Amino acid sequence: MNIDRRGFLVAAAALGATSLSGGILAANAAGGASLIELPKLPWEQSALDPVISGNTVGFHYAKHHKGYVDALNKLIAGTPLEGRSLVEIVRESAGKADKAAIFNNAAQTWNHTFYWNSLSPKGGGKPGAELVSRIDDSFGSFDDFRRAFLTASTGQFGSGWVWLVLDKGSKKLSLIKTGNADTPISGDMHVPLAVLDVWEHAYYLDYQNRRLDYATAILDKLMNWRYVEDNLGKS
Ligand code: MN
Repeated sequence: MNIDRRGFLVAAAALGATSLSGGILAANAAGGASLIELPKLPWEQSALDPVISGNTVGFHYAKHHKGYVDALNKLIAGTPLEGRSLVEIVRESAGKADKAAIFNNAAQTWNHTFYWNSLSPKGGGKPGAELVSRIDDSFGSFDDFRRAFLTASTGQFGSGWVWLVLDKGSKKLSLIKTGNADTPISGDMHVPLAVLDVWEHAYYLDYQNRRLDYATAILDKLMNWRYVEDNLGKS
């Protein structure tokens, strides 16, 4: 029997989703499969308070991040990118003028998930000895790294991101800035280790225009060094 996708969805609805496995469980009320999902936050919404308020996280996650996911799913529905992984969608759309909207929403979806994981209510301070040694080797000292991170954060003109990365060529840690939605995962030069969102929506409710205060507070109080170590370990 040859049933097309719509026919299958109708059949699935008749059977009841609980009797079916896999992607069909994600079928939404409109009858289409959910494509890319919004991951849960790795902590409670107010867990970063007072460095980042629950109010900021609420808007940033439930409006901005979710908005990118929803827009992406609309854009890829019925295209060859439907059903592909998020990283594949980012890479396939990067640098293509006719796929700019897909790239922007896919990259922003990925970047935000990486940002949430880069923050921890138990973060900040200095990392463990092994990572401090990598930072010393790459930046001169932890204080030099700290200065470079804050300079990069305030030096990104307009909206964008500041990334702590592993440079695949030199094997050293490095800081790079990307504008708007741009992300190191569209290329193959850097392994992202942690990221700071420097779009105004990330800090304006709590810090207004004081981006340096926001970046300083994140680095000193929330930076998830454990996540950096995990990402280094995987690279
Ligand atoms: Mn953001």
